[in-house]
Amino acid sequence: MLILKTISDARAWRDSVGEEQKTIGFVPTMGALHPGHISLIRKANRENDLVACSIFVNPIQFNNREDLEKYPRTLDADIRHLEEVACDVLFAPTASEMYPGQDIINDKYNFGHLDKVLEGKFRPGHFNGVAVVVRKLFEIIQPHRAYFGMKDYQQLKIVEELVKYHKMPVEIIACPTLREKDGLAMSSRNVRLTHHERSIAPVIHRVLLEIKEKIGHLTPKGAQIWGANQLNKYAEIQVEYLQIVGADDLLPIETWDEKKSVVVLVAAYLGKVRLIDNMIIK
Ligand code: AMP
Repeated sequence: MLILKTISDARAWRDSVGEEQKTIGFVPTMGALHPGHISLIRKANRENDLVACSIFVNPIQFNNREDLEKYPRTLDADIRHLEEVACDVLFAPTASEMYPGQDIINDKYNFGHLDKVLEGKFRPGHFNGVAVVVRKLFEIIQPHRAYFGMKDYQQLKIVEELVKYHKMPVEIIACPTLREKDGLAMSSRNVRLTHHERSIAPVIHRVLLEIKEKIGHLTPKGAQIWGANQLNKYAEIQVEYLQIVGADDLLPIETWDEKKSVVVLVAAYLGKVRLIDNMIIK
C-alpha cells in the first residue's frame, strides 16, 4: 500500500492514475478503523480498479476540545487492517498539511434546513468542518466514487447535497451500518465506553427497533417521546435528541401516512461518550 502524507504526493499519485484511466473508489475516515470502515473499503475494492482511503482526524469538525483530544488514534494498526484488505493508497496528512493557516479557513457552507437540525443543532460548525474537508479531499483524490456510512446519516445527506450543488464529478455510495452482535453500531468511540457502559449501549439499537413496531400504534411525535423515555430510564444515558423525520429532507413528519421514507435518528451520551445511531423505519 502506498502511504502518502503530503498533498503534493497525493496529487502526483492521482496524476499518474489519470494516465492509466483507472477508476478510483475513495473512503474518507478519521482512523481507529473497525469492521464498519473495512466494509466500506471492501465495497470500494469490488466496485473500482483502485481504492484510496484517507485517515485524518479533522480538527475543524470537532466542536468539543475533549472529544478531539480523546479521539482514538491507532495508525499502525489501521495500516495493517488496510493492507489486509488490499487498499491501494492511504492518504494520511497532518493537520498543518491540510490547514497551513487555521485562520484562513473561511469557506462557509449553507445547507439550508439540513445542517441546522439534529447534529447541526447540537454540534454547531460540525457540518461546515465536514464540508470543508470532504471538498478538499475530493479535489485532491478526485475519486470516481466515494463511500460513506449510513451510520452518519445526516453527514451522508450533507455530502450528497455538497456534491449536487457543486456538480462534483463523484458518485456518492451509501453503505449500511455494521453492528456488533448485540446491535451496537460499530464506532471508533465505542472503545472509550467503560465495561458497564458497554453492557448498556445495545439498548440504543433495541429502542430504534421497538420504535419501528410503534408505527400505526403511536403518532410519530408519540413514538419519539416513548423512545427518548425508554433511553432516559437509564441513569447513565442522557438523550440529546431522538427524532423521527423524512429520510430525504430530515423534516419532521406529522403522520405515518405521508408518502415518504422515514428515519429515526438518535444522539445520546453514555457516560462521557456521545453515541449516534439511526434506522430507516419506513
Ligand atoms: P469516521 O472515521 O467515523 O469519520 O467514519 C468514516 C466512514 O465510515 C464514514 O462514512 C462513516 O459513516 C463510516 N462508518 C462509521 N461507522 C460505521 C459502521 N458501523 N458501519 C458502516 N460504516 C461506518
